[in-house]
Amino acid sequence: MARVAFIGLGNMGGGMAANLAKAGHEVLAFDLSQDALARAAANGCTIAESAEQAVANAEAIVTMLPAGKHVAEVYRTNVLLNAPKAAILMDCSTIDVATAKAVGGEAAFAGFEMVDAPVSGGIAAAEGGTLTFMVGGTSEGFERARPFLEQMGKAVIHAGDAGAGQAAKICNNMLLGATMAATCEAFVLAQKLGLNPQTFFDISSKASGQSWSMTSYCPVPGVGPETPADRNYEGGFAAALMLKDLKLAMEAAEAAGAYTPMGGEAEELYQRFVDRGGAHKDFSALIKMIDDSWEAPVEGNIKA
Ligand code: NAD
Repeated sequence: MARVAFIGLGNMGGGMAANLAKAGHEVLAFDLSQDALARAAANGCTIAESAEQAVANAEAIVTMLPAGKHVAEVYRTNVLLNAPKAAILMDCSTIDVATAKAVGGEAAFAGFEMVDAPVSGGIAAAEGGTLTFMVGGTSEGFERARPFLEQMGKAVIHAGDAGAGQAAKICNNMLLGATMAATCEAFVLAQKLGLNPQTFFDISSKASGQSWSMTSYCPVPGVGPETPADRNYEGGFAAALMLKDLKLAMEAAEAAGAYTPMGGEAEELYQRFVDRGGAHKDFSALIKMIDDSWEAPVEGNIKA
């Protein structure tokens, strides 16, 4: 068992840190939020007074932060200056590929082994230890990170060099955003053409239009397996997070000179949906905007 520093104990990091503590590690946790720290303490973590203190004697360091600027700041001002060089560094946040590569490069230059290891799966998967990790870094870094990541997830896949984990994550989520938008459109058109949604599902889920968005995460209530659509689009994967990932994908596409018209269209649709008050709804609620039945939750009713 190891001394693990965990920085960023929000919706995702809280459950992940709890699983490392449950696995028997000594988890020294730090977050800017007192509430997050209190939850971590209740879940078996020891609270650190600062990020510096958390990492000072760590053998492994995990970060789960909102965006690239937080990751760059925490690594540049706290982790790289204060952690033992022998510690394996794992950033599990979803951030832009450029920052992931830059911070990974600075860590390597400073003598650390670091991986970018973003996740697929939401809050329930973080709590249940069933995340999928896509890992960028050297083979040695991957092998050193793997045992820790396995204690928080069901699958740990080496995607390539530094930044490759983030690249895999945003390409996957760009595909997801575009297929969900197309699935929503298809159901709306099918209904306008007189097809029963269940009948269309039965046909398309066994035909060439099949996708995960259709068969596992159907945006129509009462059709297919139980999904957020059956809970008024509460829970699940918030539209605001889908928009964040689509923006990261478009940024990366521009930097790489890749033509991604479907991703761009999906970004525009999710931007419109978020602007109309859909940020906290599950991303499959996009269908309500497409079929013109979207009514934004009144302020105060919006789930935080
Ligand atoms: P969150 O906002 O709930 O948690 C982030 C935590 O980081 C907060 O508690 C915040 O106080 C803390 N923090 C910010 N700056 C800090 C600093 N300098 N030092 C210490 N703590 C700091 O976010 P989340 O939903 O847990 O998401 C975390 C990451 O995981 C994001 O990059 C997100 O895109 C990604 N992700 C989220 C989901 C999801 O369903 N929520 C799914 C997959 C990936």
